[in-house]
Amino acid sequence: MMLTGKTAFVTGASRGIGAAVAVGLAKNGADVVISDLKGQNAELEKVRDRITETGQKARVLHLDVTDKAAIEAAVAEAGKIDILVNNAGILIPKTLEELDEKTWDAHFDVNAKGVLLVTNAVLPQMRKRKAGRIINIASIAGRQGVPTQGHYAATKAVDITLTRVYAQEAGMDGITVNAICPGIILTEMGKENLGSQEAMDHWSNVAALKRLGAPDDIVGPVVFFASDQSRFVTGQALNVCGGIYFH
Ligand code: NAP
Repeated sequence: MMLTGKTAFVTGASRGIGAAVAVGLAKNGADVVISDLKGQNAELEKVRDRITETGQKARVLHLDVTDKAAIEAAVAEAGKIDILVNNAGILIPKTLEELDEKTWDAHFDVNAKGVLLVTNAVLPQMRKRKAGRIINIASIAGRQGVPTQGHYAATKAVDITLTRVYAQEAGMDGITVNAICPGIILTEMGKENLGSQEAMDHWSNVAALKRLGAPDDIVGPVVFFASDQSRFVTGQALNVCGGIYFH
């Protein structure tokens, strides 16, 4: 149990990658605060039950990562946070030419500013304890723009940059900040994005491992970044994509 005695805080944890990561952190010994939008309460409660089945403590907090006041209240209510996983994200595919300002702003609010606001709310307590682990869920899209995801890819490139800068600004206080860049993971977002069985077969074939990802495939890398095993790793972005992208 690499995370015994630690408490993790995961955003967007009601389903998909966030839910898998929250349960995975608990299986590795962490207590977990799971948060998501209010509308996701029923799903959050199911994730809470899966965490308590592991023997760890779970707490549900409602949180919109674009709402600074709500973030500050939730972080205060959570108490000690040793591990922060900035996972909440949105993707509404559109070409750059058909993109409207509202969609652009929504992506930057949730995927980029959300990471900034939640991280800034959690950092002061980590600095006081001279310890902390921050893991940002970016995307391989942030390394290479993808058609119909230009706006999304731009936010994920921001996440990679925030990871590198926070690592340098918080490293002196014993805090590491790393990012994970998932490839195509079969969550609601991943499936919607692919759109068809044909696209699924195509990308499975492109992948070196000849399959697409499951939410659980993200757990091991998050646990590594959350644990002492990665104590000398910071400011890095790790592709977790089954070999569909190599830079
Ligand atoms: P998902 O199934 O759509 O889950 C995203 C979660 O974030 C949902 O529960 C969603 O709640 C929540 N969320 C959205 N806006 C929020 C807000 N303002 N405040 C708090 N929570 C909010 O997506 P996923 O595939 O698990 O993705 C998780 C992360 O991995 C995202 O950052 C995504 O960009 C990244 N990622 C995913 C893939 C992939 O292929 N799936 C690939 C690369 C990166 P609602 O349902 O209520 O909106």
